[in-house]
Amino acid sequence: MCGIMGYVGKQSCAKMIYDGLKKLEYRGYDSAGIVVLGDTKLEVAKSVGKLFNLEAELGQLSPTAKMGMGHTRWATHGAPSVANAHPHTYDGFSIIHNGIIENYQALKISLLEAGTVFASETDSEVILHLLHREYAKDRSFDKAVSRVIPMLEGAFAFAAMTIEEPGVFYLVKNSSPLVIGCGVHENFFASDALALLPHTQEMIFLEDGQVVKITADEIELRDFSGKLLQAQRKILPKVDSAPEKNGFRHFMLKEIYEQPAVIRATLEKVFGASGAASLDESAIGLSALPFDTIKRIHIVGCGTAYLAGTLGRYFLEKWAQIPVSVDLASEFRYRSPYLDAGTLIIAMTQSGETLDTLASVKFAKQAGCPIYSICNVPFSAIPRGSEATFYMNAGPEVGVASTKAFVAMVLDLFLFTLAFGHKKGLISQAELEKQRSYLQRLPALVEQAIEQQSSIEQIALRYFEATNSLFIGRGNSCSIALEGALKLKEISYIHAEGYAGGELKHGPIALVDEHIPIIALAPKDSHYEKMLSNIEEVKARGGRVIGVGGKDDKRLAALCQDVLACPQIEQEDLQAILSVIPLQLFAYSIAVLRGTDIDQPRNLAKSVTVE
Ligand code: GLU
Repeated sequence: MCGIMGYVGKQSCAKMIYDGLKKLEYRGYDSAGIVVLGDTKLEVAKSVGKLFNLEAELGQLSPTAKMGMGHTRWATHGAPSVANAHPHTYDGFSIIHNGIIENYQALKISLLEAGTVFASETDSEVILHLLHREYAKDRSFDKAVSRVIPMLEGAFAFAAMTIEEPGVFYLVKNSSPLVIGCGVHENFFASDALALLPHTQEMIFLEDGQVVKITADEIELRDFSGKLLQAQRKILPKVDSAPEKNGFRHFMLKEIYEQPAVIRATLEKVFGASGAASLDESAIGLSALPFDTIKRIHIVGCGTAYLAGTLGRYFLEKWAQIPVSVDLASEFRYRSPYLDAGTLIIAMTQSGETLDTLASVKFAKQAGCPIYSICNVPFSAIPRGSEATFYMNAGPEVGVASTKAFVAMVLDLFLFTLAFGHKKGLISQAELEKQRSYLQRLPALVEQAIEQQSSIEQIALRYFEATNSLFIGRGNSCSIALEGALKLKEISYIHAEGYAGGELKHGPIALVDEHIPIIALAPKDSHYEKMLSNIEEVKARGGRVIGVGGKDDKRLAALCQDVLACPQIEQEDLQAILSVIPLQLFAYSIAVLRGTDIDQPRNLAKSVTVE
């Protein structure tokens, strides 16, 4: 997590760095700080809480300073506080750090024994004191950095500066993202190119194991062994100005409303504007994969992306007759999965930087697996490490709780499935045509689902004070139940669990009483009758059931206290995309009533770059 932004050059930089951090606040928002090189010393401003609190502190920094760096924190070690906020500074040295130094305790003990006094509880501070100690040996910043790097274990990126060598930054990257923005007599760096694009389009994306010396006129790239490397520069397209809420109360609601447009754009990309029934394999990325040798698929992702992946397994096994497993990325590489060159990895990631997913990709690459990613952010690390990427076309997703990216991932997995099954000869041209016509109905049906917002708000009024909830569904709706529960807990802080409807009787039914709302997904699909039986079981034990199903479904209405109405489509894989909409709106409405911070819920961050 955490956002890093730095500058050295000809402009005064404190406010510029602050503005850059604003673009990175999605990466962490529990505290922030900036250090600049003043005339005689390093000057630091820090604050706790949202970034705007830092603006009031900027007056402490010289307006003429032309070198500095800033950080928005997502705490891993030590509570959010001014002392723990980065930059960490000591005796003319300063560092900012993203990630975790896994061996910090051992390093800290040896530094404490030598008399070092620590000012924070962070793991990061050991980097600062190690640099300071190593610099004292021969007064070379360069050598101090080189000696400190092999002492550190974990996934991290850090930037360091010292008053002893004004105008020089060192950047070190080992897993967490870092990008350099190249200017004329000035240079920039950040965790995400987004923060740099207002200043330059010319970027160098650092790879793991690289260390860079940056001054206003020089970028010197080396690997950890000291070997000089040639920097690969990329010119990025300009981005539109930062996303606005456009009259919506929250980004999350705006993003829910953008879903029909996201689906339209994706369908246009893969079928072409005319809607021909042939899939553009290159838009999907299939043409860049070693199709003939793929024997099995592992889908990996975290959180919402993982849940989208569970639908991908259902789609691919059913339509493309290929064995698929789905793994939480944080578990995948620790369970010794069977991997070989015939195993395709599908990496699901909105940001393209999720560290657990990135680590899974690297792990699988070492085993010779081809990598396919489904991602929303161009030029991000996971697409850069993939043979092929299906970009989501979802536009920036600002709300931390994912909505449009989830829908885009599910749709993209379905389209990938169609392309894969078609290429394998399992999906005929006529079937493809049929599926295309279902797909083309989706945007209007999603619009109809969204039109239910006000009636969902009325229903939310009856449940927003609940402390626990259960979501149940069968088949594809099981994944949607889990996603609905995740949305509710993320933004309303109500405890919510998602279960397969048939699994309820094997344990969770013990929780059922009149206080716990049970949200039951019952679209008119092949699981419908079984789902109604599960609802009966809950009712028989006094449970309050909120059904999610057809507006005119009288059987469902008769069984449930309330129904979140949802348009129905006879293609049950695509029903999953429709069924999630009322759950997004339900979670949103409940969170509004509870007055939580919907776009930036407590303890979360949008791009998770720590393990
Ligand atoms: N581990 C460091 C800390 O807790 C850095 C966290 C981050 O990446 O924001 O301060």
